[in-house]
Amino acid sequence: MPELPEVETVRAGLEALVLGATVVDVEIRRDSCVRLMPGGAAAFADAVIGGRIDEIARRGKFLWVPLAGDDAGVQTALSAHLGMSGQFRVFEDTPPEAHTHCRARLSLTRNGTPLTLDFLDQRTFGYLHAEGLVPTTDHQPGGQGTARKAVPASVAHIARDALDPHLSEAAAVRGLRKGSRAIKQVLLDQTVVSGIGNIYADEALWLARIQPEREANMLTGVAARMLLDSVKEIMTTALGHGGTSFDALYVNVNGESGYFSRHLAVYGRAGQPCERCGGMITVERIGGRSTHWCQRCQRRFARRTTRD
Ligand SMILES: [Zn+2]
Repeated sequence: MPELPEVETVRAGLEALVLGATVVDVEIRRDSCVRLMPGGAAAFADAVIGGRIDEIARRGKFLWVPLAGDDAGVQTALSAHLGMSGQFRVFEDTPPEAHTHCRARLSLTRNGTPLTLDFLDQRTFGYLHAEGLVPTTDHQPGGQGTARKAVPASVAHIARDALDPHLSEAAAVRGLRKGSRAIKQVLLDQTVVSGIGNIYADEALWLARIQPEREANMLTGVAARMLLDSVKEIMTTALGHGGTSFDALYVNVNGESGYFSRHLAVYGRAGQPCERCGGMITVERIGGRSTHWCQRCQRRFARRTTRD
C-alpha cells in the first residue's frame, strides 16, 4: 500500500509531466472510481473539463490538483487517493488502448500537444474526486507542491505529514502521547501525523526501540519526539529510494517500475533475527494490522510482562 514516499514519488512525477496542461475530456471507465461525487461521472467531468492543472499538491497520502479556470481563479480541486493499488500513467500524442485496470482516462492538452492521463486501480480502493478548496486553519500552504493556503474539503481533517515544514512538532508529539490506544494504532491515525502506513509504522517503532503495543499515553515526551524523528528518518530514506513496495502493481507515472525495495529492518521479517540485537522478529496483529517487531530490543518504556 502506498505510503508518503510512494505518493510523493507519484506527485513529483505528475508535476514533471502534466503541469500546465488543460483537461479537455474525461472518460470514467468505472463509476466507482468517482463514488464520492454526488452527481457521478457526469458531475466529475463537468467540474474538471476546461480546468488547467496549476499545481500538483500532496498532504500525507492525499493528492490534489487545483484547477485554474478562464479567470485564473481556482475554486475546484481534482483530488485523488491511490488506495491500495492506484497508479497514474501519462502518454504523449496517441495513447495505447486503455489497460484493463484503467478506471479513468483524462485527455489533456499542453502547448498544442495532446497528453493522456490514465488512472489505474486494480483493487479499486482508490478514487478521483472534484471538490472545493477550503482555507488551512493554520494559514500555511496546504502541503507539498502548493503555495495555496488551502486544501480540498475532504482533506481538511487530515494532519500535516512528518515531512511537512509547517507541521507543528509540539502538536504532533502531544498527539502521539494521547489516549490509551496502542502507539502503533496512533501512528496509523492520519489525523495525528499523516502519511504513515503499516510498513513505515513498524520500521519507525523499531528505529525508536518502542514496543508497538505500548499505550500512547505511556510514552514520555522524549520518546514521542524520538518516534517522530524516526518517522522522518524512515520517510526521508525511503524517498531517496523512490519509496518501497512489495506489490508489482505499482509503477510510476511513466508506466515503468518506479519503486525499489529498500532495506527493511522488521517489516516482513518475522522469524528472522533482529539486525540490532539478534533477537527474533515476531509478528502480531495490533488493531487488525500485522505488526512486526523485536521483542528483545523494542523495550523502551515497556511495562514488565511475563515475556520479560
Ligand atoms: Zn532487536
